[in-house]
Amino acid sequence: MNIRFLGTHNSESKDVRPACILIDNFLAIDAGGLISSLTFSEQLAIEALLITHHHYDHIKDIPMMGMNFYVQKAGINIYSIPSVYEALAYLFEYPGKLYTNFLNHPPEHPAINFTAIEPLKPFSIKQYQILAVPVKHSVPSVGYQITTPRGKNLFYSGDTGKGLEDIWRYISPDLIVIEVTAADGFLKSATETNHLTPGLLKDELTSFRKIKGYLPKIITVHMFPQSPEKELIEDELKQVAVELNADIIPGYEGMQITL
Ligand SMILES: [Zn+2]
Ligand SMILES: [Zn+2]
Repeated sequence: MNIRFLGTHNSESKDVRPACILIDNFLAIDAGGLISSLTFSEQLAIEALLITHHHYDHIKDIPMMGMNFYVQKAGINIYSIPSVYEALAYLFEYPGKLYTNFLNHPPEHPAINFTAIEPLKPFSIKQYQILAVPVKHSVPSVGYQITTPRGKNLFYSGDTGKGLEDIWRYISPDLIVIEVTAADGFLKSATETNHLTPGLLKDELTSFRKIKGYLPKIITVHMFPQSPEKELIEDELKQVAVELNADIIPGYEGMQITL
């Protein structure tokens, strides 16, 4: 499994993009960095796009992906929970119409094909097994476990707050890509908005190790990219890695990992 980290932050600038990864060139999760990271041909090679939840930083490239696929007389296949479909339909159909509604345009073969999925009901895309697992965010949200034909496992959390111990039993990842949005100094606001800090991540990984008996490599995403919070998060993650004797590193745009 080759994983390209297209966006690893919760914001966007010339240098950083919101959450988005690309697996083996055909399977993407979240749509925060598809447009500005990929060529048109790389975009068209995406056979499935999994969305974790409907917050703007995770769906923002979908309307333009619709346009890019429409121009090529193609369709992009999006898989997610029903609340994401409702948000997209609302967005496109906003009074006065924000943009062409590619969920039903062109009528004979819409540029976006949306498949509603149910958490904990496995499905497959090509030979890859996909399991959506409910996580603890402020709106309905799922993480995804992706299993390759060779049995390599990735778990991608999407946005989540604390309290993941009840989902660990569903997954057995070789790599966890998990959000850590803010530094520990922002614990109160992170908790209120259902996000993780390095200290909260430590608690979640401790429960993972207790339940599963091991700890895989961890890559964090969705961090605030601005200084000084960026450096605070990195320092606190280093401390957690030492305390847990674990392999924990912050992701960055352009990072590639092979499992
Ligand atoms: Zn969110
Ligand atoms: Zn987010």
